[in-house]
Amino acid sequence: MLIDSHCHLDYFNKPGEQADIIGRAVEAGIEEMVTIGVTLKQSQEILAIAERFENIWACVGVHPNHAADVLPVVEPEILARLAAHPKVIGIGESGLDYFYDNAPKDVQELNFRANIRAARLAGLPICIHARDADADIARILREERAGGHFEFLLHCFSSTRQLAEEAMELGGYFSFSGILTFPKSESVREIAAIVPEDRILVETDSPYLAPVPYRGKRNEPAYTAHTAAKLAEVRGLSPEALADLTTRNFRTLFKKAAQ
Ligand SMILES: [Zn+2]
Repeated sequence: MLIDSHCHLDYFNKPGEQADIIGRAVEAGIEEMVTIGVTLKQSQEILAIAERFENIWACVGVHPNHAADVLPVVEPEILARLAAHPKVIGIGESGLDYFYDNAPKDVQELNFRANIRAARLAGLPICIHARDADADIARILREERAGGHFEFLLHCFSSTRQLAEEAMELGGYFSFSGILTFPKSESVREIAAIVPEDRILVETDSPYLAPVPYRGKRNEPAYTAHTAAKLAEVRGLSPEALADLTTRNFRTLFKKAAQ
């Protein structure tokens, strides 16, 4: 079995659509999924999805693109309180995004640090979104780690070798998405080949970033299998071994989802 460690089920919002999508995923061997919050409001709303479907977990947090939607930035205590819900297994997604640049850099940093504090308060890992901001991500991770331990996952890994090495040094986890299957993603595949075996996970980030052969179409959790097949190839593992490995890593990182 595989686990989709990062998807946005709240974006599948036509009547009955979530049940269909989750059903197709289970048929394809993706037995559990994590639906991710990007604003405080959505983080509250996705709890209903996790409550409705037994095999759905949730993460709660504020995405950098939404860091300035509501100011001042989110209070760590509020996120930590939401995270006490039995189906919430992590904080996020949060981080920095200088590509879209929807919020000023200083506000993104305050928001990222608030999400990290929530992770520390809740004793849960944080799921990190990093886009065109690798040096600042590494700096903030180092500074915040000095203030107290927290586990982290670089979701949808597509960053530089430099950030990969810093994250490996800090004992971070790496999740690979459909980007891994794109012809031009040679550098992502190089990193996917060298990350320690006990640090790798898979995800879709659906509805975005569908893997080959669905590239350009709407993504869904069932397609995790295509990314996993590519990761298995890159690592020289059988699909079964890769599935076992990523599922074990998922449960090690997201302790609340351990069974
Ligand atoms: Zn996402």
